[in-house]
Formats: sequence, structure tokens, C-alpha cells
Amino acid sequence: MTLEIIQVPCFTDNYAILLHEDTTGETLCVDAPEARPILQALAEKGWKLTTLLITHKHADHVGGIKQLKEIMGCKTYGPKAEARDIPELDESLAEGDSITFAGHPIEIIETPGHTSGHISYHWPEDKLLFAGDTLFVIGSGRLFEGTPAQMWQSLNKLMALPDDTKLYCGHEYTLSNAEFAARLEPGNIDLQTRLLDIRGLRSKNQSTLPSTIGMEKRTNPFLRPDSDEIKKKVGMPFGDEVAIFGKIRELKNKG
Ligand code: ZN
Ligand code: FE
Repeated sequence: MTLEIIQVPCFTDNYAILLHEDTTGETLCVDAPEARPILQALAEKGWKLTTLLITHKHADHVGGIKQLKEIMGCKTYGPKAEARDIPELDESLAEGDSITFAGHPIEIIETPGHTSGHISYHWPEDKLLFAGDTLFVIGSGRLFEGTPAQMWQSLNKLMALPDDTKLYCGHEYTLSNAEFAARLEPGNIDLQTRLLDIRGLRSKNQSTLPSTIGMEKRTNPFLRPDSDEIKKKVGMPFGDEVAIFGKIRELKNKG
């Protein structure tokens, strides 16, 4: 089996991700910010969309569902806890559920915090993770509906996945995330090196996705509240992980 993966930029900084399985000719899309660029990418490839996976209810992730379904007739899955907010879902999913796409198993991980029903999609055999607005490259989603403790627990579930799992997220926020991270943890060599790579990619308007879980554990401050340097920087040398995570979130909200 061979999966081809392409990233479709939508609006100013959203991504939809297309996955095409050559053996069966099926195509899946993760999140539907807007239909037009997704339809255009499908047309360029000559692919027909068969499956749509939604991470959460926000408009910049669901806005294209209706039109994609009308034109492509794709089967649409999304979070059970947000099914009322996303009336276009054909099937709703919760923690521990699993589905398959063209022979590839996909496991559902509930990752509340950004919204209370947010789910992430883990493809164990392909080592892929689609984390929506929960875990960004060097960042993490804003807490619109959850507490720091809830989001920290969600991130811990994702951190428990194998280090070589590839991470795809819902937005290209990486450069501002990395600059923020480098101010919090200037002594992190992995992060400083990565910041240079990211500046290079973004200056050419290239995507910084995918990352990996291992890389995120080394460079993403939201996964590093146990870093002594971060603890000192946020003025909480003896704070617990949740308190420090919450403080990092607060600082990032201020820019
Ligand atoms: Zn969102
Ligand atoms: Fe979003």
C-alpha cells in the first residue's frame, strides 16, 4: 500500500491534508476549512474524495464540509461530543473508536482543551497523527473551552505515541511559535537550530509540516513544563506541570 500525502493551504494559515491510497483509489481529507482549494487540489491530482475526517467544530475546520459532500459524496466523520454543532457528520467518533481508510487503521483519541469535544486521529501502522488545533508544531491550541489541566492531559496522550510518529496540525503558526519558544528556552540547542530551519522555510513560503512527536518533545515548550530553564523563565521554579503549562499558555496569549 502506498499513501500519498499532500497539504492544502486554506485561508491565510489553515491546512487541509489530503491522503490518497493508490491501491484502492480512495482519497481522504483531514478538516475542511473551505471547499475551493481542496476541490482544486483534488482536480489537479485527478482524485475523488471518499472520506472526510473532522477534528473539531470551529468554522475554519468545518466550513467546506457541505460543499465537499454535495460535490464528492464523501463519508464524513467527526467528534461525537460536537455532533450537534456539525450537522453534516455521517458518523461520530469517541475515545477508543477505530475506523479504517483503504485498509489503514485509524484510532480516535479525545483531546479536549481547545474545544471540549476535539478529537485527534492516530494512524498507528502509518505512524501519522492529525492533531487539529490541539498540538501545533512548537505550539498548542488556545484554551477556548478547556482548562490547562484538561489540555495537559490531552497533550500527554499525544506525547505517549511513538517518537517517530509524524505530526500534522491545523495551522501554519510555526514561526511565531518557534520565536516564542526560543525566548522561553534560549538554551535549548535543538530549538535554536530548528528556528533557523523554520525561518528558512517560511521565507520561501514553504510549509513546516510535518513534525514528529520526538521533535516536539525536544522543542515544544508546551510539552516541556519540566524544563528547568522554562520554569525559571516563567518565574515558577517549583511549580507543578499543570501550573507551568497554564503559565506558558497565558504568556503565549499575550504574544
Ligand atoms: Zn480551532
Ligand atoms: Fe483552527
